[in-house]
Amino acid sequence: MLKKERLFAPGPTALLPQAQAAMAAMHWHHRTAEFRKLLTGTRERLQRFLGTKNEVMLLAASGSGAMEAAVVNGLSPQDRVLVLTAGKFGERWEQLAKAYGCAVESVKLPYGESFGPQHVQGKVSAHTAAVLVQATESSTGVRHDIEGIARAARQANPEVLILVDGITGIGTSPLEIDAWDLDFVIGGSQKAVMIQPGLAYLSVSERAWRAMEKSRAPRFYFDLRRERKSQAQGETAFTPATGLVAALHAALEYIEANGGRAGLVANAELLARATRAAAAALGLRRFGGGTPAGALTALEAPAGLDSGEIVKGLRQKFGSVIANGQGEMKGKIFRVAHLGYYDFSDTLALLGQLELVLVQAGKLEKAKLGAGVRAAQTLWLEAAAGQGAEA
Ligand SMILES: *Cc1c(COP(=O)(O)O)cnc(C)c1O
Repeated sequence: MLKKERLFAPGPTALLPQAQAAMAAMHWHHRTAEFRKLLTGTRERLQRFLGTKNEVMLLAASGSGAMEAAVVNGLSPQDRVLVLTAGKFGERWEQLAKAYGCAVESVKLPYGESFGPQHVQGKVSAHTAAVLVQATESSTGVRHDIEGIARAARQANPEVLILVDGITGIGTSPLEIDAWDLDFVIGGSQKAVMIQPGLAYLSVSERAWRAMEKSRAPRFYFDLRRERKSQAQGETAFTPATGLVAALHAALEYIEANGGRAGLVANAELLARATRAAAAALGLRRFGGGTPAGALTALEAPAGLDSGEIVKGLRQKFGSVIANGQGEMKGKIFRVAHLGYYDFSDTLALLGQLELVLVQAGKLEKAKLGAGVRAAQTLWLEAAAGQGAEA
């Protein structure tokens, strides 16, 4: 039987064909008028996509590279920073800030919980240099209340820097950089923008540019002040990932034609709701008690079944790639992505496959086949009725 490989991992995600074509066709030298125009146009589109007046920088790196850029440019050794951590990516902020000598205070919640303003109240003072948080914690499938967190932090200290890892939060849940006054917001190419890994981006506020004037952290490749000068000229300080820039330009064109960031968010949220409805119909529990993310859904494996068996079954039987839990959640949960280039049919197919894998594993009665798919279809009909012709 034929099996198409389908990526449903929360990164790298499914690739947009026209962006792949643009990447393959890219052959220009980067110090040319053509490439300068492409880079400048891509940065402008990215700014529109993010809905911010802040400058947006592109870096040849995975998403973590832009997280590092935010830390080494905005902070200094010994700076007091507050890290909100309830999962693997929160822990990455902690490790990164510690690696550069920051005095890290962590607010920890159990995996699967969400942060809100109450978790920063009383924790931010005039001595706090920054608050570091994820918009969506991809290891657990929940999002944090960035708007509330930013407001509470800013009330306690108007100059505190707010660093948001939006790598899976951008284009999947609301994230208003200017209205919420966020200083660094970080994204990665292999998530909602539908292209290959290797390109990171970040928006930088005026407050953040000012903070860089006094930052004493060591930096070289990720020196944003140098990048700013180069990128203003349509260049980059070092050789750019030219193919990925071309791919990003094509992807942003497609996204703009399909409702922009708001269109992507609505799409991801519909697929996430359909997946949650299907899970409930199949008796599968969502992991954690936090606010579910639009980016991905984390589900618990049925009792007595290692989630790795579900991951393996989907892969071997149908070619679909989902993600296992990370760290201590490995074997217990599995994660299905909705961010980027997925449509409703992709999600329906995956839900149908999941039912078959569960039946074969003896964790779903055969008579229940179709219950998850049906719940997702029902939700689609309700969404369509709510919005006129189109869901
Ligand atoms: C994917 C991801 C990252 C970045 O990981 P890289 O492998 O460096 O691209 C960081 N934070 C979150 C929340 C992510 O989902």
